[in-house]
Amino acid sequence: MNKVGVRAIMHDIQEVLNSDPSKYINLSAGNPTLLPEVYKMWEDSLSNILNNGELGNIVSKYGSSYGTYELIDCIREYFYNNYDVKLERENILITSGSQNLFFLALNSFCGTNDKNDLTRALIPMLPDYAGYSGVALEKNIIEGIPPLITKIDNHTFRYELDKESFLERVMENRDIGAMVLSRPNNPCGNVLSEKDILFISNVCSELNIPLLIDSAYAPPFPAINFVDMNPILTDNIVHCMSVSKAGLPGERIGIAIGKPQYIKVMEAFQSNISIHSSRLGQRMVADSLQNGQLPFISVKYIREHYKQKYLTLKKALTIFMPDDIPWFLHCAEGSLFSWLWLENLPLEDKEFYNKLKEQNLIVVPGNSFFHDSYAVSMHARECIRISLTATDDDIMRGIEILSNVTKECYKES
Ligand code: PLP
Repeated sequence: MNKVGVRAIMHDIQEVLNSDPSKYINLSAGNPTLLPEVYKMWEDSLSNILNNGELGNIVSKYGSSYGTYELIDCIREYFYNNYDVKLERENILITSGSQNLFFLALNSFCGTNDKNDLTRALIPMLPDYAGYSGVALEKNIIEGIPPLITKIDNHTFRYELDKESFLERVMENRDIGAMVLSRPNNPCGNVLSEKDILFISNVCSELNIPLLIDSAYAPPFPAINFVDMNPILTDNIVHCMSVSKAGLPGERIGIAIGKPQYIKVMEAFQSNISIHSSRLGQRMVADSLQNGQLPFISVKYIREHYKQKYLTLKKALTIFMPDDIPWFLHCAEGSLFSWLWLENLPLEDKEFYNKLKEQNLIVVPGNSFFHDSYAVSMHARECIRISLTATDDDIMRGIEILSNVTKECYKES
């Protein structure tokens, strides 16, 4: 099978790492670090289930395709108590992870419709999660708007939503079935402001389409946000959550919150393809919400962990990267990744990735996060994603290698 884009690069990374895991410094990983407090939380949930004699009842029965009422009611209660948002059961769907949620949503709302017209999924600001490209069953579904770039100081930059280009695209052709964005953003750690979200949501409302807000890194869990942010719920927003980055990626629990009209479509699809999400995982999440551990551990340990990792990375870059090379780190507003832009990098991100690989350092080249729309631009080829899931020692040693390879590349040009 011909793998393209992010699948090709992820395949390469996996092969390299499997060949000799101890040889490489891996700054590419998306698997969350299993912190001791997080492990204890899930261990306690599982023990409670076993000690209460509930296991048989949970694992030996099919359930509703919406998810268990127990977990759905926990989410309702959490949103009511903490955000003053009143949700009905019909507003919530539990999915088999949020990747699956995007599969259900993008293939329900986008693609070839009854009139044989193709409707697309628009990403309002690139770069964004490479996994959206893979979920569409039809070709040319995902499209994105290039960002505006603001340099903040000698070594920091931030992407901004290009409202003009966004509106131009929407006006040009109303062939859009849904919009999707991650907040905090994977790969760059940007958090779009509430004002920007409401602006995008208004446009979606006029088009009568859903806006999927991928909150895989957002509060209340895993809460890997370094700036203040809250869930935003308007009539056409589908708020998409995941428990994966709070240490439970293996159990596949995603949560969609939105109006019943959207939820129902996705539920029907889910019912056909997988019936429902793991009931054991749902019970564990309900337990850790009922006793308050999940949001507490998220804020106190998970967020702090990645904040510290970001500071280590920044320190390493300041120590090792030469000041006369135009390197810029995206503002750290959230997520478990950092995003480095090497302006005027004399070679493409993929070649740069290969050079780093030769020196036993693995990062993710940035191009695939631009989803083809912008992939040909210079900027898309000058960025790399660096994972904050590594040890401090690996971050330090990795950035030293990165710095040496970067110096060579700029010197040769
Ligand atoms: N959304 C974003 C932004 C992600 O980074 C990921 C995983 O890395 C996912 C969704 C999918 O996560 P899951 O399916 O485990 O919930």
